[in-house]
Amino acid sequence: MDSKTNKKTYSVVPGLNMGLFDPEDLETILKVINKYDVPSTKITSAQRLALLGMEKEEMAKLQQELKSHTREIPINGVTYVQSCPGSEWCKYGIRDSLALGKKLEELSMKKPFKAKVKVGVAGCRMCCTEPYVRDVGIFASKKGWTLVFGGNGGNNARIGDIVAEGLSDEEVLALVKKCLSVYQKEANPHSRTARFMERFGIEALKKRVLEQE
Ligand code: SF4
Repeated sequence: MDSKTNKKTYSVVPGLNMGLFDPEDLETILKVINKYDVPSTKITSAQRLALLGMEKEEMAKLQQELKSHTREIPINGVTYVQSCPGSEWCKYGIRDSLALGKKLEELSMKKPFKAKVKVGVAGCRMCCTEPYVRDVGIFASKKGWTLVFGGNGGNNARIGDIVAEGLSDEEVLALVKKCLSVYQKEANPHSRTARFMERFGIEALKKRVLEQE
C-alpha cells in the first residue's frame, strides 16, 4: 500500500492486485471510506484505488484497517503489475495475462531494485496495458509472449526494446528474472530501466540474457 501526500493532506492507494477485487474487498473499502469520510476516491492509471485527502492520523488508522485487503509493495519485488483481462475474459485474448501477471507480482529477487519497476502484461498485440512503455512489458501473439524491457511512459519517455519473442510462460518468467538481474548488477543507483537501457544497450542485454546466462 502506498501513502502519498499533496503537502496538506494524505492519500492511501490500496493495491488491488492488477485491478482485481472481490465483493469482500469492496465491502471493506466502502466501509472505511464511509467511516473516515474520505473526501475523494479515484481509480488510478496503475489499476489501483486512491483514497484522497485525509489527515495524517486518519490515514494511518485507515491503512491499518485495509491491510489484509491490499498488496504491500515488496522490498525485493516489482512496484506493481498492470494486466489486462486476457484470454480469460477478453474475446481478443490469446494468452492468460492475469495468470502471468500474478506470477510477476509474486516475483522475488535476492536484492531490492535500484528504482521502481513497473510491469504491464497484455493478452494480445493490441497492448491495452501499454507494455512498450513499462520497465517490463509483455504481450501475447500467436507465437507466444513477447518481452519488452526498458520502457517508460513518464517524463523523458522511452519505448522499450524487444528482448525476445515466441516465449512460453516459463520462458518469459525466466527471461524477466535474467533481465532484472542484469539491471540490478549494472544500473547506476536510482536509475530506472529506461535510463539503464539507453546506456547499456539492447544488444549487450541480449548477449547477457540470451547467450551467456
Ligand atoms: S490487450 Fe488484447 S486481450 Fe488484453 S484487453 Fe486488450 S484487446 Fe483484450
